[in-house]
Formats: sequence, structure tokens, C-alpha cells
Amino acid sequence: MNAETKIPTPATVDFAGPYRLSIAGKMIETNATFDVLNPATNEVFAQAPEGSAEQMEVAIAAAKAAFPAWAALSADERGAYVEAYADALEAHKDELITLLTREQGKPRHTMATGEVEAAIFWVREVAKRRLPVETLEDTEDHVVEVHHTPLGVVGAITPWNFPVLLGLWKVAPCLVTGNTMVMKPSPYTPLCTLRFGEIAQGVFPPGVLNIVSGGNALGAQMTEHPDIAKISFTGSTATGKKVMASGSSNLKRITLELGGNDAAIVLADADWQSIVPTLFWAAFGNSGQWCIASKRIYVHRSIHAEFVKAFVAFAKDMKVGDGMDPATDLGPIQNRMQYDKLKSLFADVKDKGYKVPLGGEIDESLAGNFVPVTIVDNPPEDSRIVQEEPFGPILPILAFDEVDEVVAKANASPFGLAGSVWGRDREAAIAVAKRLETGTVWVNEIHIHGIDIPFGGHKQSGMGVENGAEGLAEFTNTKTYMFHK
Ligand code: NAD
Repeated sequence: MNAETKIPTPATVDFAGPYRLSIAGKMIETNATFDVLNPATNEVFAQAPEGSAEQMEVAIAAAKAAFPAWAALSADERGAYVEAYADALEAHKDELITLLTREQGKPRHTMATGEVEAAIFWVREVAKRRLPVETLEDTEDHVVEVHHTPLGVVGAITPWNFPVLLGLWKVAPCLVTGNTMVMKPSPYTPLCTLRFGEIAQGVFPPGVLNIVSGGNALGAQMTEHPDIAKISFTGSTATGKKVMASGSSNLKRITLELGGNDAAIVLADADWQSIVPTLFWAAFGNSGQWCIASKRIYVHRSIHAEFVKAFVAFAKDMKVGDGMDPATDLGPIQNRMQYDKLKSLFADVKDKGYKVPLGGEIDESLAGNFVPVTIVDNPPEDSRIVQEEPFGPILPILAFDEVDEVVAKANASPFGLAGSVWGRDREAAIAVAKRLETGTVWVNEIHIHGIDIPFGGHKQSGMGVENGAEGLAEFTNTKTYMFHK
């Protein structure tokens, strides 16, 4: 443990900062800083350190220098460090939850608490996971074994919608498998990552986990860097393509968790009254800013009108507001760029005259990035609201007639992240699920994740997986040993 680093206790935390980079076990201040806004008010409440290209170089060099000793530890020794990190995070849980609401906007008492608790649980559990040596042959004179060896320095790049969970999903498996890391959070939500980096400096040897915040150029610097062996990226498909192109320079290992346009298919025999609340939260949780949000709900025409009515009745009383208010169900949109994208989508729905039984008007006089819960009733299949990933609280509910038709529509997307099928006849629902071209399909349930459950996108929703033994293995090289006895 690095005893030199002092970590403030939650009681002494000032959310205004200072926030610092974590490089080589030290907390580093920068000359330049950038504003961090509370999306519920659009007021600046903190300054984040703007890491320079030189500081990124130093961070990568620190991770490279720390790698041999870290990789030489046994998996159990590294697991013990990671478990100690879970304890340290636990001690700062309340602080992280409040900070997450301040910078991201999600309701403190529900989504923010859930995200931080899930992330800490993940770190604690991944600490116990191992990739065992597999013996393929063991004969009189020959042994063949498959080992998993660490890659070296991993560059992690994260988005603004779940900065704590998606960040720690990368940290824990990366470190357990013997790699070191440099992480760059989204410039929209850098603070929780800087804090969990600071907490880590009291646990891990210097250089094992480095955090550098700043602009997008730092991300590009990481993807090009010859001393980074792998990029673990979560973000948009457009940026994912750039990461892949630039990572080719030294044939980096690349894991990409990208965008989605998930379909939920409600079959004619579905118990639709009872699933309305579940599907509401599947679509509108985190105000729709979720890669695996249900972004298109297809309902069989025989029940479509009743379903829309019940959905609107459930959704109409949801309170959109400041995430610090315990009465808030849905927080603001995290940033102005995404808010402006949504304004354009709302304008398109209005211009085209689609039926909007709930919401539809963004009140631009409000200080925060608040967008009302909006339902669009059966817009055309080729409309922007069906074809694009809105990443906000607006949902098309579409009618379909035939199973073949709805499967074709669900699959006619460049994305292939996840999907769900709902019906009383389980076998029939599973048969539909098997036809969906997505990395995950849920039947009569949704958004279940697990430490041991691989998660990743098909088509342009990504490459590789996170979680599960497969996700762990993506932080390693496969090394085959053959011994003559
Ligand atoms: P984004 O692609 O704009 O940014 C993601 C990260 O990439 C940020 O840290 C950003 O600074 C960095 N970046 C930007 N340009 C870069 C470059 N040229 N090289 C390297 N890094 C660069 O994405 P976002 O807007 O932050 O996140 C929203 C998107 O993320 C949505 O499309 C959503 O579906 C997706 N997402 C996917 C998953 C998943 O697991 N599949 C999870 C959450 C979010």
C-alpha cells in the first residue's frame, strides 16, 4: 500500500475540488483547467485538470515502468490489492454518489446510488476471478498448456453516461490480470474518475492506475501510442471507428463497447399490462442516456393502442428534475451537446406531424438540460426517431403485424447491441429472440448483467466483450506452452 498518499475522508470533501490527475502514485495539479457543469443548473461547480500531452506521456511511461513488477505478482496478490480497492471505494461511497449526481445529473437516491454500489460490487467480485491454466494434453512425453499472460499498458477511454460503473468495469479486470492502466474519462464527467483514481493511489503501487483528464486529443494520443498494448473503449460508434483505425499502428488489442438501437418486441400474447412499468424504465432509465436502453418498442397491432394508452398513463406522472431532489424520477440530459441533438430530433418529430401522446415540447426557458418524457405513437419505420439512437427520454412505440416483419425491422439496423422479446408462450418468444442479431437478448426480463456474463455488441455496436471469463481474457494474450517430458 502507498501510505504516503492522503485521501480526504468524506466529511472533509468539498465538491468544488481541487481535483488532480493521478500519475505514478502522485496527485498532479495542472496549469490549465476546464469547467465542470451541474447539468441540472448549467452552473460551473468545479474545475477539472486539463492534462497536457506531456502529462499523458508521463502517465503512459509510469504505467509502463510499473508493469513488470505488477505482472510478476501472483494473481492472488493482485486480487488482494483489488479487493482492498473495493474497501477503499466503499469508504468513499456516499461522496462518490453525490459527486456523480452533481456532474452527471442522474437521481442521487436511485440511479446514482445504484451505479456506485454496482461498481463497487463489481470490483470486489472481479478481484476473485482467475483465468486458470488449461492443460490440453498431458501424455507420457508431452504436455500442452494454455496460459493467459498480461498485455502491458492498457488505455481506457470512457463516456459520460455511466462514468463510475463503466470505468471500474475496466479497472478491475485489467489489474487482476496483471496489466497496468492509463484512463481518460469523458471531459463532460471527469470528476468521479479523478476521485476514484485518487482513492486508488492509497491502495496500488505507483503507476499501476493513472488517470489523466482533458480533451478528446488525449484519447487520440492514447490510441496512437506505441507503448499502449490495448485500448478498452466505451463510447459512440463514430469515435469507436477512429479508435480502431488509429490503434492499427501497433496492432493494439481493442475492445469497443459502442452505441445501440435496441428493439423490444411485445408479441400478441404478452402479458402487456404487467410489463408496462418494466419497459418504461428499460426505455427511460437514466433519462434514456443508456447504450442498452430500449429505443424502439414494437407492439403487436392487436394490443398496440391499449399498450400505448397504458404506457402514457404510467409515464405521465414521472417527475423530471434535479437529481439531488428525492422526488425526482428522471434527471437532466448530461450535456448541452446531447441536449441540442435531442432538440433537433424533437423538431423533426414535430415538423413531420407524428402523433405524440405524451411530451413533445422542450421548455428551453429552464436553466437545466431538462427534456420531458416523450412518446411517439407509430412513426414511420424510416423516421429519424426510429433509425437513430436518440440517447434521451423520447421513445417510438410501433405497431407490427407479423413476426417475420418485426424481426426484419429489428435487424435492419447497423447496430446490434441488445434486444428483448416479451410473450406468454416462452418457446415462441425464445424462437424470436434467437433471430435477433444482437450481442444480448432478454426474454420476459431485461437489463440483467453479471460479473460472469459476457456483454458486447454485434455489428457496429462493438467488438469483443466486457465481463465474464471472455471479458477477462480480452486483457490477456493466449500463450501456449509445450513441454517435452
Ligand atoms: P464519445 O464517443 O463522444 O466519447 C467517448 C470517449 O471518447 C470520451 O472520453 C471522449 O473524450 C473520447 N474521444 C473522443 N474522440 C476521441 C478520439 N478521436 N480518439 C480517442 N478517444 C476519443 O461518446 P459519448 O458521447 O461520451 O458516449 C455516448 C455513446 O456511448 C453512445 O453512443 C452510447 O450508446 C455509447 N455507450 C456504449 C456503451 C456500451 O457498453 N456499448 C455504454 C455506454 C455508452
